[in-house]
Amino acid sequence: MTLENYEEMMDGCVRCSKCKFLPQLQIKSKRFSHICPSIEYFNFHAYSGGGRMIMANALQKGRIEFTPEMLDVLYSCTNCGGCEVSCKWVYDLEPNEVIHELRVKAVESGAGPLPKHKKYIELVERYQNPYGEPSEKRPAWIEDDIKLDEDSNTIFFVGCTAAYRREEIALSTAKVLNAGNENFRILGTDEFCCGSPVYRVGDREKAIEIMKSNVELFKSKGVERIITSCSGCFNMLRTEYPRYVETSFEVVHISQLLETMLSDGRLKLTNEVPMKVTYHDPCHLGRMSEPYEPYEGEKVEILSQVYMWDPPKPERLGAGGIYDPPRNVLKQIPGIELIEMERICEYSYCCGAGGGVKAGFPDFALWTATERVQEAEETGAKGIVSVCPFCSTNIRDSLDYRESEMEYFDLTELVLMSLEGGE
Ligand code: SF4
Ligand code: SF4
Repeated sequence: MTLENYEEMMDGCVRCSKCKFLPQLQIKSKRFSHICPSIEYFNFHAYSGGGRMIMANALQKGRIEFTPEMLDVLYSCTNCGGCEVSCKWVYDLEPNEVIHELRVKAVESGAGPLPKHKKYIELVERYQNPYGEPSEKRPAWIEDDIKLDEDSNTIFFVGCTAAYRREEIALSTAKVLNAGNENFRILGTDEFCCGSPVYRVGDREKAIEIMKSNVELFKSKGVERIITSCSGCFNMLRTEYPRYVETSFEVVHISQLLETMLSDGRLKLTNEVPMKVTYHDPCHLGRMSEPYEPYEGEKVEILSQVYMWDPPKPERLGAGGIYDPPRNVLKQIPGIELIEMERICEYSYCCGAGGGVKAGFPDFALWTATERVQEAEETGAKGIVSVCPFCSTNIRDSLDYRESEMEYFDLTELVLMSLEGGE
């Protein structure tokens, strides 16, 4: 797809602003009625999904050109996909897809991405990760008692953030896999970034190169099944890769696998973990991970100005994301009481880190995480649980900033505490 393919869609934006809020039926309070962190923070229409559609349309029609100010607006979006879920309730437009295409166009024309994004893309190319860490350090989180099966066709794809910045999540994931007798290995120093940070800022060409080379790597290593603990990696491998390259591997998120391991009795949770917790849905495990179904139908006018898709078009409203498995696991931990926030599942609120925002606009990223933390605090829970190392970093930053009494846990850490003889 290119921006041109979205022209009719962009013309169809009626500037109703519904993409700034949760769908009306999902709103529980004015305080937490927003779905778009960008418009909430910057408070000017251009910073909403619809505003960026207008910008993209004007550029496509040759009325404006890329300017530094426009790039700032374009990149201060977390690519959380919330605008798209809200718009599709009413108008069936895809503002998040349009934003992505506008970023691709910005990169292709030489205007984008932002300097900080260019810097980490260089690091990915040079060091296989956006942190500029040496490959030799990638498996440094492994402890001696972790059992790896070098003959397994299942890998734990650790991801750059867990490997270099949130090692505790890599470790607790490996430990729960061992506890459940799940045979797996890791790619160690051969693992390469999944491509998410490159793809999300619009460098699609380089991202596709990474996808291709990763797929070749998996093939050459006989990989048939990939386990991820990172929602960003999961989204790329499960949802984005098949749009651009042929894949032949299964992708499982650790929360799904934990649910299976509990239901078939491979894991037994016996230790009490007495705590009230709330669960944060990562956008990339939730609404953004719903698979794309290729569609080649057409829009037909059935009455004057009344259109239908023939055959019916897949809706992709976000309901196909992963929502139940992490919750079902939490509910099986003795002593854990799960209290939901107001914005959950496909109507969840972003942690603020994605889409290159943590690198490009750290203040905005922190502000968004703080909005989410305040929502979590309102539940009265003592723990905020999620399943994404990147969300973890941003939410922890906000907990520190607010000097909050809440504590952040990855789901695997709570499971580990509850295991027979666990930590
Ligand atoms: S993108 Fe959709 S929800 Fe947003 S202003 Fe346009 S039509 Fe309305
Ligand atoms: S993707 Fe998220 S941050 Fe970006 S415009 Fe849509 S709702 Fe706002």
